[in-house]
Amino acid sequence: MFTYNVDSFLENELVQIREIFYDFMAGFTDKSFCKMLGERKEWLPPVYISDEVIVIPKANGPFDKQLGKSIKKGYSVFIYYEAVKEYCCTFHLENEYESALSMVLAHEFFHSVHRIWDEKAFLQDASPRTGISMERKHQLTESLADYFAYFWLESHEDSDYAIVAQHRKGLWQEYASANWPYSSALVFVNSPEIFFEILRLLKSNPAMAYRKLSS
Ligand SMILES: [Zn+2]
Repeated sequence: MFTYNVDSFLENELVQIREIFYDFMAGFTDKSFCKMLGERKEWLPPVYISDEVIVIPKANGPFDKQLGKSIKKGYSVFIYYEAVKEYCCTFHLENEYESALSMVLAHEFFHSVHRIWDEKAFLQDASPRTGISMERKHQLTESLADYFAYFWLESHEDSDYAIVAQHRKGLWQEYASANWPYSSALVFVNSPEIFFEILRLLKSNPAMAYRKLSS
């Protein structure tokens, strides 16, 4: 599957993902976000590629292994390559393995930058004060990250990326009725302009962000 080293592949992808991220976020004029980006110019998360397999308890989507994660410590990113391999085998994307890894990397990169700016969006305690459950927060953060990953894949001429992007969009559609958290990314496909609004609201008024996302 790989003609060269996976670490250097991901390293290369990450630099390009950051570039696309800057383009993508150019219209987001939120003061504290711009300040954060200014302070973290050229910043990239540490990326660890791991053979760990983590089963998602009570998964309600098309797969039940975690593909990657972003953690608070160092805002590091983990890519679980065995799970990504399984994802590719399950959906007949064996020839698009690299693009699938890249999708996971972009998704987790987004989480990491989002975390730096708004750690609250990821906190485990959803208090009655914010009026939103952890599940709903999860839906908001996942749909944002997944849409960015989709945007990243779609920014390529290379058809491998487009295949993985279209497949992912198909999963959103297929599992929307099952309430798969990632499916809410469809909202942004239809109205990309709402992305920044949700991002801003999630920080200032999560309950309102959720209402907006599901209206
Ligand atoms: Zn995620």
